[in-house]
Amino acid sequence: MSLIQLEKIRRRVSICTKCDLCKSRTNAVPGKGYHKSELMFIGEAPGRSEDKQGEPFVGIAGKKLSIALEYAGISRDKVYITNVVKCRPPKNRIPKESEKKACEHYLKTEISLIKPKIICVMGNTAYHSLLGGSNITKNHGKIVKKNGNLYFVTIHPAATIYNQSLLQTLKKDMKTLVKTLNGIKG
Ligand code: SF4
Repeated sequence: MSLIQLEKIRRRVSICTKCDLCKSRTNAVPGKGYHKSELMFIGEAPGRSEDKQGEPFVGIAGKKLSIALEYAGISRDKVYITNVVKCRPPKNRIPKESEKKACEHYLKTEISLIKPKIICVMGNTAYHSLLGGSNITKNHGKIVKKNGNLYFVTIHPAATIYNQSLLQTLKKDMKTLVKTLNGIKG
């Protein structure tokens, strides 16, 4: 059932004109992944490659994410990946509050349909948007409970592109995430 409803959301996102980001996008980028995933990954917004292909985390940052997931024994096919806003902001600027507000229904629906055990928030701007947090350098690896959901905070994979030590940080965080998930499941 959730698969059909997720497909409906995908279709709605792909033609959505609820905010001005629809004017500058090439493609809207709906979430993608396993509809019964225990883990959901959320970034702030699509980038250039994602805008071109209409899929989340397909550029170099997406490759880094896949590397970190693999390191932790997580198959990318088994998780669900999405963003706070589904269209790329011009020049990758931070999405405006009004844009996030216009788009939030899609994310809320994705969460309520998939019901992940843990939501992994990637990067400072998504951390701020979803949990009101800041200073991801200090706070990555933390667990936050909010509105009945369990969140895990980590750095944005894009931060690891030119920084090998941050890639190690992301990899370690993914291992911690798996441990936390296994702990919940007992
Ligand atoms: S960012 Fe969200 S609300 Fe704005 S046009 Fe894209 S899908 Fe619609």
